[in-house]
Order: sequence, then C-alpha cells, then structure tokens
Amino acid sequence: MIQQTLVLIKPDSIARGLIGEIIKRFEQRGLKIVGLKMIKPNKNLAEKHYTETITKKHGKHVRDSLLNYLTSSPVIAIAVQGSNAVELVRKITGSTFPGEADIGTIRGDFAHVSKFYMKDKNKPDNLIHASENKEDAKKELALWFSLDEIQDYKLAAETFIF
Ligand code: ADP
Repeated sequence: MIQQTLVLIKPDSIARGLIGEIIKRFEQRGLKIVGLKMIKPNKNLAEKHYTETITKKHGKHVRDSLLNYLTSSPVIAIAVQGSNAVELVRKITGSTFPGEADIGTIRGDFAHVSKFYMKDKNKPDNLIHASENKEDAKKELALWFSLDEIQDYKLAAETFIF
C-alpha cells in the first residue's frame, strides 16, 4: 500500500550538519520525497503538532520542552512516500531514546544518549520526528503541507522497487 508520512529534521540534526545524511537514508531505501521545506515553527504550529496527547503520554514537562525546542530554531519538514511508508520510516528512524535505538537506524547511528539521561535532563533532541501511525501521518501532513506543496513525479527506481 502506497502511503505518505511526515518527517521533521529537528534542530539538533540541523545544527550538527546532518540534513543530507538523514535525507539520504530515505532515498537509499527507495522512498520518494514528495514535499520538502525549511520552516521555523511558531507556537501555534508547534502546539498543533505536539498535542495534549504528549502530555498524557509523557507529562506536561515533556510537552513544554518539546514546544520550546521546536520553536527555537528552523526544522525541515519532509513528506515521504512509498510502500508501507509510515512503518518503514519509523523503522529507519529507530527507537525514541537513541541509546535503545538499533544500529543502522538514524537515531542509533548518530546519537547515543540513554533514556535515563533524556528523562532526567528533560531533553527532547533525538534528531528527527516521524509520524507514529497512518492517522497521525494524515493529520501531520495536512498541518505542515498544503496540498499544492505535495508533488507528483516518477522516480527511476520505482520501476525496480515498487
Ligand atoms: P517518537 O518521537 O519516537 O514518536 P513520542 O511520540 O513518544 O516518541 O515522543 C515525542 C518526542 O518527545 C520524542 O521524539 C522526544 O523528543 C520527546 N520525549 C519523549 N519522551 C521523553 C522524555 N521522557 N524526556 C524527554 N523527551 C522526551
């Protein structure tokens, strides 16, 4: 099933010069970039992205630090398309806490901080965001991209991969 999903390259990745490295991971897997932009989110956008679900899941302190973090510096929003893209992009991203992320994933290859450090220091900087499921992907893509910002074209690799 062809799906679209949202990736955000977070400020820590951008500061570390990892934009190309991260985009490469999706391209080399044969996924298609159908939308791409750099944007400095305002409070309104950040609050719509990290909703009260985060408070319920992790507590108010985590949501507050995520909102501060996301509005502190530009991020890159990417619409990624491909077969079973939502799950595949999460797999390429790796576990939320880099210390637990598998080697070969983005978080597992470019960061190492432990769950305990992140929780203790309340640090949300784990390189990227990737939509958790199909429903979130739909909502998040609509939040970050207008319909005319999503492009339709053919990858040479589609002939072989899809
Ligand atoms: P994921 O981004 O892997 O889908 P969640 O949706 O559960 O993870 O959490 C959203 C984001 O909140 C994480 O990417 C991370 O930046 C941050 N976060 C989650 N839990 C914590 C925590 N205990 N301490 C600090 N930051 C956290």
